[in-house]
Amino acid sequence: MHNITLIKGDGIGPEISDAVLKIIKTAGVEINWDVQTAGADVIETEGVPLPDRVIDSVKRNKVALKSPVTTPIGKGFRSVNVQLRKELDLYSNLRPCYNLPNVKTRYDNVDIVVVRENTEDLYAGIERQIDNDTAESIKRITRTASERIAKFAFDYAVKNNRKFVTVVTKANICKLSDGLFLESARNIAQNYNLPLKEILVDNCCMQLVQNPNQFDVLLLPNLYGDIVSDLCAGLIGGLGVAQGANIGKDYAVFEPVHGSAPDIAGQNKANPTAMLMSAIEMLNYIGEDIAAKNIKEALFKTLENNIKTADLGGNASCQDFTDAIVNNIC
Ligand code: ATP
Repeated sequence: MHNITLIKGDGIGPEISDAVLKIIKTAGVEINWDVQTAGADVIETEGVPLPDRVIDSVKRNKVALKSPVTTPIGKGFRSVNVQLRKELDLYSNLRPCYNLPNVKTRYDNVDIVVVRENTEDLYAGIERQIDNDTAESIKRITRTASERIAKFAFDYAVKNNRKFVTVVTKANICKLSDGLFLESARNIAQNYNLPLKEILVDNCCMQLVQNPNQFDVLLLPNLYGDIVSDLCAGLIGGLGVAQGANIGKDYAVFEPVHGSAPDIAGQNKANPTAMLMSAIEMLNYIGEDIAAKNIKEALFKTLENNIKTADLGGNASCQDFTDAIVNNIC
């Protein structure tokens, strides 16, 4: 029996969480879910969007599965996702992107792993209003954080038989901050028998759109990592299929790349694939490799049978799609 924190989120969060829990249960994994709420709904009763009990729960269980929690745009509280990563020092954001069966995309054989630094850069939230017409954000990059994420990228590359790592910066313009990130990657690369390639983020975006097959593992600071991982999600069928994991020294939180999709919430239209693939990675992480493999095969078989949700051009509801996966689990 595993103890795992479940943050159900809001928007489509509860629908896709329920779907994933049903699939995991069918695969026979015994999990005692420690269900926690966070976000706007919690502010009314507890005063903050991310109460200590959520952090404490993840610290207790070490592992969490998380659905999206809405972040207000341009005002309101700080992103729960960003806070959680910071509080738990989940310094690496790992986003493997590869083609799924029968999901129509512009390119075949895409197989890119995005490794994004998760704790600093413009996401440190150091902002100030100078006057009514001027605001500043500080882009903070440290050697410690840059070297540990570079080490994570290389360790991942070695463990998963990847061929090379490409570090992505804008070091020609942000000479000090991105320059430090680049220098850190170069330093760490010397300890490995894998090549480090270097590319500027603007060129990287163009190359990804024109020829994504040329890339293997991408290593990026926080902001570029966020943007490029959505770009990579677009290469493999969109946000509905893009998985993610936030991993630190002591804790790991697995969550889809997409947001809470309020436009389709409560309509039984959400695609649970991204959340399911994040959960598959979580099962591998806790040593439930056989269940992870069975669920992945059931998902692939469902897609091969052309059962797909609307975002992938199909007409299955979230419920139909989930039931089809459940039926395909041997
Ligand atoms: P955030 O800023 O919170 O990350 P976002 O701006 O990236 O959110 P999303 O909430 O991820 O936005 O939604 C972007 C678009 O993708 C919306 O049209 C949404 O309906 C669609 N979308 C996102 N996730 C899914 C999903 N799991 N299934 C189907 N459609 C989705």
